[in-house]
Amino acid sequence: MKFTHNSRKRMTKKAAAGCLCLSLAFMALSPIPAWAGPAGDIPPAATVPDSGSGSGPAGPGSAAPLPDTPPAVDDSFYNQTITDPIVHPVDKYTYEQMEQDILALAARYPGRINYQVIGQTLDGRNIYDIIIGNPGAQKKILFQGAIHGREYIVVPLMMQQIEYLLAFQDTGSYLGQPLNVLMGQTAIHFVPMTNPDGVALSQFGEGAIRSPELQEGIRAMYAADVAEERTTLPYEQYLVRWKSNARGVDLNHNFNADWEALNPTLNHGSSSDFKGSAPLSEPETQALANVIAQNGFLAVINYHAMGQVLYWDTKDNKKAAESYDMAVTASGVTGYQILGSKGVGGLKDWLQRESSPIAGITIEVGRSACPVAFSEYPTIWEQNKQIPILFCHYILTH
Ligand SMILES: [Zn+2]
Repeated sequence: MKFTHNSRKRMTKKAAAGCLCLSLAFMALSPIPAWAGPAGDIPPAATVPDSGSGSGPAGPGSAAPLPDTPPAVDDSFYNQTITDPIVHPVDKYTYEQMEQDILALAARYPGRINYQVIGQTLDGRNIYDIIIGNPGAQKKILFQGAIHGREYIVVPLMMQQIEYLLAFQDTGSYLGQPLNVLMGQTAIHFVPMTNPDGVALSQFGEGAIRSPELQEGIRAMYAADVAEERTTLPYEQYLVRWKSNARGVDLNHNFNADWEALNPTLNHGSSSDFKGSAPLSEPETQALANVIAQNGFLAVINYHAMGQVLYWDTKDNKKAAESYDMAVTASGVTGYQILGSKGVGGLKDWLQRESSPIAGITIEVGRSACPVAFSEYPTIWEQNKQIPILFCHYILTH
């Protein structure tokens, strides 16, 4: 589904008001450049060089003749059904389920999936980086999700995206190129749950945190937020809406992108918005910074919830044109509204401003207040199922 330029414009105000996940210190909307057309306008697949890693011929001679009329049904791999899938998206898809599914995917697709623990949280959970495609490829891309606890609906989405690429690696194609060829030239990294402590807290409350010290800290943060009238919610509901890590640092405020200017009066941990004692003060943000430093990604795509919008900009953005182009590309398949708000303190913002900047976007899925209602999952899947292969193709052709 696609929005027309006009309908996308009409949505701007509503979507901007609904989205709570970025720090939007600069809410002024930049002028939206002309709509550049749907994703089908990206360069043809024939520009992808053949590395020889594919399982079959990829040259023009092997292409079937074009039918006079397009097929009524899009039989692309992401529209197929996987018999006996490993990943079963459910409400409150847990850290433990994700761990089991990573192991099961590795067992079913030996040699096609690598994973590593890139860090450990304050409450002792692992932060996983899952690598598919060709880990040694020069062209690398990172998909990152659930840096905010209550946005956990993006975790099954990303795990299902991984399973589809693995399941159809031999038989699928995208824009005329065999998946095997595209994946053979790309190292595709997924960090689907950057903040597992925050996810556990939002899903199951204080009892999900094992450390008594962290539990005590969380109760103290709630008391402070109540005293300062930052919340009027009962404790259980306050925890359901938890975004931060287990010591109350909003991880997407913990990066060095105008960090000093961000929320200067909030000086204690909280369910959201506290930026921490310094940029990269937290194990979760350090883990991301390390994996990014080690890999030289060409693009980073950040999954958040909610608002059905795409963010691409920050102050002093050194990758503005590239990031905007990525947002246009993502909008072509998701139908999400492109917003020019300039984010502060987030991973995307930091990477766009660094001395070796990286282009990126933030994709906000879902419409209902976080945690997004699981009844929205089928729509979210439809809108996002081709995002990973779309951006593999994108980095190979740009
Ligand atoms: Zn968020």
